Amino acid sequence: MGAEIREECGVFGIYAPGQDVAKLTYWGLFALQHRGQESAGIAVSDGREIKLHKGMGMVAEVFSEEKLNELSGFIASGHVRYSTTGGSVPLNAQPLVFNYKQGSIALGHNGNLANVAELKKNLLARGAIFQTTTDSEVIINVIAQYAQTDLVEGILKAMVDLKGAYSLVIMTETQLIGVRDPWGFRPLVLGQFKGGYVLASESAALDTIGAELIRDVEPGEIVVIDMDGLKSFKFMQGIKPSFCIFEYIYFARPDSIINGYHVNTVRRKMGQVLAKEYPVEADLVVPVPDSGTAAARGYAEASGIPLEEGLMKNRYAGRTFIRPSQKEREIGVRLKLNPIREVLKGKKIVVIDDSVVRGTTSKQIIELLKEAGAREIHLLLSSPPFIRSCYYGIDISNEDELIAAKLNLEETKNYLGADGLYYLSLEGLLGIFKNRDFCLACFNGDYPVPIT
Ligand code: SF4
Repeated sequence: MGAEIREECGVFGIYAPGQDVAKLTYWGLFALQHRGQESAGIAVSDGREIKLHKGMGMVAEVFSEEKLNELSGFIASGHVRYSTTGGSVPLNAQPLVFNYKQGSIALGHNGNLANVAELKKNLLARGAIFQTTTDSEVIINVIAQYAQTDLVEGILKAMVDLKGAYSLVIMTETQLIGVRDPWGFRPLVLGQFKGGYVLASESAALDTIGAELIRDVEPGEIVVIDMDGLKSFKFMQGIKPSFCIFEYIYFARPDSIINGYHVNTVRRKMGQVLAKEYPVEADLVVPVPDSGTAAARGYAEASGIPLEEGLMKNRYAGRTFIRPSQKEREIGVRLKLNPIREVLKGKKIVVIDDSVVRGTTSKQIIELLKEAGAREIHLLLSSPPFIRSCYYGIDISNEDELIAAKLNLEETKNYLGADGLYYLSLEGLLGIFKNRDFCLACFNGDYPVPIT
């Protein structure tokens, strides 16, 4: 299930003279908390200097009213982070703020560079010094080297060298800049707010602060916002977009709109396609909350089988600061989910979830459902099997941990203890969209950008 997968980051930026931009960024990050829970940060500029506060933990833990009041200005950029490239340490928290030839720069990055080792080696050979272990600092260095006279020109030149996934929110003392890599792996949207502009990983963050979604920042586009308004620069056009299809399956909030598609609608359609591909006879459709909820609704609509909440989620499960001991770890999924026995007892059920990664969580869920008296359990997934790792900003586990890469369908079903196991087909998944501009590498091994 999606709980075994982590998005690496969420970015937010706002240019809004006369507004409390620090507070607005706080709420924007709050809406993006699902994209990273290990650290959070906000940088604010008042036109002369950039002030920064960041720390380890969730947005609500890192910021107090007092801290936010210290961050006054009219431009802000914020970041929530989960780490895979670079450790989970305070130094790696973002935005990263640096001085370069033209002044100060704050950078928040969502994604992963595929050629970071090569770029870092070249920079080190030229005498660069790194303070963090993130690939985001490599991006800043590459940009700074090219930005001798003009930052936008530096970014445009740097983009030729940067290979992989990067949705960036960059801030100087006077500008807010959004950048999306030419493949468009990770989302980035542009909104309008009280005469100013907003950039965010997902449109749900715009909704939260009352901003209006204008459009997605296009793959290969740089948007520059300053006192003269908004300018757009396009570069490296002609590269086939490779939007991450997993944003729709699991990561993005269902209330977000990404690349013109409502995430909730897409997930519902996934369930409808699953019902066509696998018309299982059952008494009930039970979602694994929340990752399987929309697809389960779609399956129930298309199949006519009633939808029932058979699993209750503890909404505070991710909030405990007490590290579970080894014994408590065995409780595992029970900390998060509890079956409703009176719904499940004696029933043949279709359970809908978004994915199976290592299989440990799905196995525990099936055990829970059996203990609660379910008679037959058919697990249906709204994604094809994961057989490869992701190098573009998602932490999916090593390939040797992916159950679908190790076991065939029958073996996986037996390991999980399910009576039936069914994955949405790749064709069925792609059929939901008008075009096929997607990265599918974790399902078919076809990596749009070579990993070096
Ligand atoms: Fe998304 Fe999978 Fe591609 Fe990674 S490999 S960007 S998770 S589709």
